[in-house]
Amino acid sequence: MTSLGRQRRVIIAGGSVAGLFLGNLLVRSGWHVDIFERASDALVERGAGVAGHAELEAVLGAPANLDRIEIEQRVAYDRLGRVVARHVHRQYVTSWNVVFARLRDAFPEPCYHSGVEVVDVAQGENDATASLSDGRQLSADLVVGADGVRSGVRARLAPDVLPRYAQYVAWRGVLDDVGTLEPGLEDLFSFCFAQGGQFIGYPLPGAAGHPRYNFLWYYRVPEGPGLDDLLTDAHGRRHEYNIPPPSIRPTHIDAFRRAAREHLPQQFSDVVMCADRFMLQPIYDVQSSSIAFGCVALIGDAAFVVRPHVRIGVLKAAQDALSLARCLRRSERVSHALQCYDNERFQTGLEAVEFGRRLGAFIERGLDTPTSDPALGLTYDFILRESARLPRGTISATSTAPSLVH
Ligand SMILES: Cc1cc2nc3c(=O)[nH]c(=O)nc-3n(C[C@H](O)[C@H](O)[C@H](O)COP(=O)(O)OP(=O)(O)OC[C@H]3O[C@@H](n4cnc5c(N)ncnc54)[C@H](O)[C@@H]3O)c2cc1C
Repeated sequence: MTSLGRQRRVIIAGGSVAGLFLGNLLVRSGWHVDIFERASDALVERGAGVAGHAELEAVLGAPANLDRIEIEQRVAYDRLGRVVARHVHRQYVTSWNVVFARLRDAFPEPCYHSGVEVVDVAQGENDATASLSDGRQLSADLVVGADGVRSGVRARLAPDVLPRYAQYVAWRGVLDDVGTLEPGLEDLFSFCFAQGGQFIGYPLPGAAGHPRYNFLWYYRVPEGPGLDDLLTDAHGRRHEYNIPPPSIRPTHIDAFRRAAREHLPQQFSDVVMCADRFMLQPIYDVQSSSIAFGCVALIGDAAFVVRPHVRIGVLKAAQDALSLARCLRRSERVSHALQCYDNERFQTGLEAVEFGRRLGAFIERGLDTPTSDPALGLTYDFILRESARLPRGTISATSTAPSLVH
């Protein structure tokens, strides 16, 4: 509410985690919130875990209320499967589905509009207008682009900011039955530095309390015919930023399995051979030039895309939402609040992108291992330790953040 008692209105483009974090916070601060989500089907996870952090708990409630798995150790292996570093770091992992379901359940159903795309955004003097795929034009005090890596809101306001391909992909997979794993692996966060890439495996909570196992293997695929072929489905369509898992051609999955047999030590190649589902994610950096434009803001992946080495995507979405909601509580002028948000979050976003670039630099450059170029400073100890920490500038959870658990 404004001091004159008028209810403020926000339109959010994108109904994934960033949009829902913000939507939930602003609904509880008295805003009229509409979230427009382009996808008409329910959103389901892409199989990666989400690390527990105080900011997530500030919005989602205490960790005791989340399905989660505790992990105490990070272990690095070389290409022969020998341990080369260990780091004790207690952390819990939950799944994207758990976070998304919690946020979606807490958000008022009538205000979540599936199957409606925000097709254009225009800035006014003291407001902004969103044009929707159903033909409507809606004005609001604030329009937020929470529309991910290919953000149309960002493209409209900062057309020069483009996702930059990092010259490698992440093959991901999930094992529903951890019984096939080498004993003990399901309790660890494992890193394996096979030739020219990096394999990571860790447990994930599954249905009915059964643990699952998730892996990703960063693998160099330079821009060009090889990448085009990987992202082309059986009907000859070249997908741009992501190929839906059912569209990945079986020949590529077979080749991936052969590469696992050839390059990974037994305990991890077995994981790949037994995986139930595969996903393929080309790795991109997005570095915005600004995240506040008058009465329009960018949050989550629309603002900055950080390589998954940092494992910060969902957390950053929560932090962006907490920061923006807090700035909007402090200032009635939306444009002032957005400047405050930009001051709090822009530099942090840049640093997170930089940190992800550093952790992935050896794959991007086609080096054999992270230690091949000592100038990168990527020792195994450094990678285990630093990828568990948050990049500098992380905002702390505030006791004033309204939790979704009452
Ligand atoms: C279906 C799905 C599953 C995912 N699974 C995982 C996972 O398992 N592990 C993990 O770490 N990360 C996962 N992610 C990615 C993760 O959510 C993001 O990397 C990050 O957390 C930031 O979220 P975001 O909301 O900013 O962006 P995203 O999660 O990418 O969401 C952007 C949303 O905006 C919608 N959208 C795009 N353009 C428009 C438009 N013009 N109008 C309206 N809506 C639009 C998209 O459909 C999408 O739902 C997933 C994302 C999605 C969409």
